[in-house]
Amino acid sequence: MRIETIRISGIDKPVSRIALGTWAMGGHLWGGADDEQSTRTLRHALNCGINLIDTAPVYGFGLSEELIGKALRGVRHSAVIATKTGLQWEDGTPRRNATAERIRKEVEDSLRRLETDYIDLYQVHWPDPLVAQQETAEALERLRREGKILAVGVSNYSSAQLDEFSRHTALATVQPPYNVFERAIDSDILPYAKRHSLVVLAYGPLCRGLLAGNMHSATRFAGDDVRNLDPKFRAPRFEQYLAAVAALDVYARECHGKSVLALALRWVLDQGPTIALWGARRPEQLKGFDEAFGWHLSADDLTHIDRILASTIKDPIGPEFMAPAKR
Ligand code: NAP
Repeated sequence: MRIETIRISGIDKPVSRIALGTWAMGGHLWGGADDEQSTRTLRHALNCGINLIDTAPVYGFGLSEELIGKALRGVRHSAVIATKTGLQWEDGTPRRNATAERIRKEVEDSLRRLETDYIDLYQVHWPDPLVAQQETAEALERLRREGKILAVGVSNYSSAQLDEFSRHTALATVQPPYNVFERAIDSDILPYAKRHSLVVLAYGPLCRGLLAGNMHSATRFAGDDVRNLDPKFRAPRFEQYLAAVAALDVYARECHGKSVLALALRWVLDQGPTIALWGARRPEQLKGFDEAFGWHLSADDLTHIDRILASTIKDPIGPEFMAPAKR
């Protein structure tokens, strides 16, 4: 199966439309992590043809970037590294800080941890309401001119913030939450991205594992796992979302001979100029990744999927719980 690719302005390699998300590899907010498994997953993803790796300094407070740096020794140029900027942390609490001074420090820290002299895609992690968009955008533009970064992206921005930001630098990508269950961008960011030729890096395409299809009502999450904070994984909603996943799985198998996981990824890929940021942390989690390629959901499929959601999820809720504090 040929892997589907997309072009990101500023990056000369075609980029795989499934990317490896490495938040969980940092361990923090994911109940810990196993560095050896993470390294094997990174190498396995590259061997599968998944060349885009998404990370951030805050994922494990540097650990995720360090693991990527080590895993990419000798093969760095075959990968496309997307990391982020604009979150600082103290005592394990991330806070937004997208000042020019902070960005200048962060890029050097990321380059060192990633063991590279350039970052393919550098994204502002969250908009910082205390800093003018112009200051943040111009800081990134300077880094682009210096060759430290190849392309600029933002994450968790509104369309008004995108408008203002892109007046000061050429924006290539946006990174919002997006999956079958979390579609806030349909009314705003997605049409904006299409109008302005931005690529959408969709985070949480499996809705933090729900759409992988192997959770059940007794599933529990260890330690500081983010899903313990997520209202989707608590009564009364957990049962509703599990019922939706079960019905989607039946539909995917009967109509397409696919798993719900493949259907969830295909759904994201069929919505436009998207990349699905798949958060895998063990090599076996990527098994069958290519089942998402080479087919499409029809308009009838999309209607049927919406009917399944309407009949199972009575109390839908988005990923708002994830927003970090302002300073
Ligand atoms: P996700 O990809 O929807 O879900 C990831 C989780 O799904 C994994 O940690 C794993 O949980 C489970 N999973 C993955 N493959 C599986 C499989 N084959 N079978 C069973 N379970 C499987 O969500 P995400 O990790 O939150 O998001 C993906 C990436 O998007 C992140 O890694 C990060 O790069 C990015 N992101 C960005 C932002 C932002 O603000 N910009 C926010 C969130 C995420 P277990 O390992 O526990 O089984």
